[in-house]
Amino acid sequence: MAITKTKFINYVRCPRYVALDDLKKEKLDSMITIEEYKKEEELEHITELLSGMFDSEGNDLIDIKNEHLETMLPYYNKVEILAGEIASKYFDGSFKFSKSTYNQESFDAVIDNIRYLCYVDIYNENEDGINIIEAKATTTKKYLDLGNKDYSIFMKDEKGIYKLLEDLDLNIEDYMPLSVYERNKAKLFDRYSASGHYVYDIAVQRFIIENDMRSHGVDKNVKYYLAVLNSNYVFDGRYENGEAIYDRINGEDIISYIDVTSITRDLMDKVYLDSQRVKKYIDDLDGSRVPLGEYCEYKKTVKCKYCPLCFDVLPEKHSILGYINNNFGFKDGSQKYETYDLINDGKVSMLDISDEMLNREKNRIQKECVISGNPYININKIKDGIKQITYPLYHLDFETFPCPLPRYKGERPYTQSVFQFSLHIEKEPGVCDKENDHYGYLAPDHLDHRLDLVKYMCELIPDDKMVLVYNDSFEKTRLMELAYIFPEYREKLLKIRDNVFDLMNIVKTKTSLYEELGYSKEEAKMFNYYHPDMDGSFSIKKVLPLFSNLTYKGMEVGNGVDALITYASFPKLLPLDYKHKYQKLVEYCQQDTYAMFAVLDGLRKTVK
Ligand code: SF4
Repeated sequence: MAITKTKFINYVRCPRYVALDDLKKEKLDSMITIEEYKKEEELEHITELLSGMFDSEGNDLIDIKNEHLETMLPYYNKVEILAGEIASKYFDGSFKFSKSTYNQESFDAVIDNIRYLCYVDIYNENEDGINIIEAKATTTKKYLDLGNKDYSIFMKDEKGIYKLLEDLDLNIEDYMPLSVYERNKAKLFDRYSASGHYVYDIAVQRFIIENDMRSHGVDKNVKYYLAVLNSNYVFDGRYENGEAIYDRINGEDIISYIDVTSITRDLMDKVYLDSQRVKKYIDDLDGSRVPLGEYCEYKKTVKCKYCPLCFDVLPEKHSILGYINNNFGFKDGSQKYETYDLINDGKVSMLDISDEMLNREKNRIQKECVISGNPYININKIKDGIKQITYPLYHLDFETFPCPLPRYKGERPYTQSVFQFSLHIEKEPGVCDKENDHYGYLAPDHLDHRLDLVKYMCELIPDDKMVLVYNDSFEKTRLMELAYIFPEYREKLLKIRDNVFDLMNIVKTKTSLYEELGYSKEEAKMFNYYHPDMDGSFSIKKVLPLFSNLTYKGMEVGNGVDALITYASFPKLLPLDYKHKYQKLVEYCQQDTYAMFAVLDGLRKTVK
């Protein structure tokens, strides 16, 4: 049972993980079956894929189920194959890549009596040496965003491969101050950052490969690359036999390659030290509790699988993690306290944090709400917010499929591709019937139905009426994207967009809106409504039960992930199942817009 790259990355988290993992110590110098390896990797790939799809929303924490794996794996496999096929445009020589692990190049090395094993996504050999290319279902954006507003710390070389400015022998200060460059580059070395996550992964790969080669006396020039989806790629809508064809468009391929040779080289000492830690953890196999920390990645999709066990120290309600902005820690005068230090010190509930340490007004209000059990309500702000609303009011919500590979013309990798909308029309304040005032559209299959959807939505929503959404940046961006994809509806869609009003402005706040309404900056910034049951979250799922008996509990499609997976599964459902699932998806989106009506109505009644 060799340690795979994926296992290593998890084992480094903490000694408890290793002990909990039911490790058979005596088998650690033997091989692992390809089936076992493949299973581990697939789970890892899907976790990463889904985190690419959801992290921006941040609402749905995902526990990967078998159905997720089954539905999403083909998308991941396609990315991997494209990365292999397109590589020949950038690298000379022979290639070895396959979606089947059986045909991939593998390396293994025994270090301190432990066998480490990895398979390489794309193995390329030419007269200059070897190129190891790891395909990741993430995008260039994570890397190109590192830098200042004009330049990234990465730039393309003459072949079109992204490299660090320093690896291109460029004068960094011609592009950005050195301090900015260094600060951004440092993120690549942080395995818990969005970009560093993938760099650490390939650094572990390099560690295994180097040890393997060294033990076999192989001395070759090896370079390391990430193959990721190109955020600048816009699909032109060409298909062959129903399959999207990703040609090079305007000089852009759908896959970009990032040279991480120098970065992974600088990480080798760290990975070596990590391997020593893993060895000690294996020797000790100590399953006792350890301090919780960043390495648990508690709020992320890639969280440690033992979080439910270890985070049982936190109370179910009103835990310290419910404090808004707790990630910045707490302050008592000049003394700063990190949240995890406080948790490990036994301060796990909101009430365990002294008033002196609550340096943020919002946190003080949160604590008061927990103590009193009552909500905080700024009646005047809510009343003034509600006065901005005009009728009839159109409650709108989109469901989207952020497919790693663009499916339709005008889309990029991970474009939030709209496949459904729901609309409730509130004719006058408080008058809206869940069934009779509901309209919507759900794409029946995976063909491009965006035009039908846009057409119907534009028929339903007049140019001059207010459109209510919850958290407006998402819906506004989708309306803008659709406006540019369908020029014949551009004017209309842009008008709808201009008429969008965010219900969150009333529940939470919007500083500029309330300043315009005459509130001081201080008051404008403060939230309008807070109930102890919200536990720091203003998501509609948390807010809804405070104003209504409507619930998502027990719904077959009950959250955004379920919605997406259900839609993704359409093509392989049998007719009866399809009909059933289709209906469940309609009900879910209908609930989302009716929930907005219920929240607005509840707020109105609360402050009347
Ligand atoms: S949840 Fe945190 S402390 Fe527990 S095993 Fe995982 S990494 Fe270790």
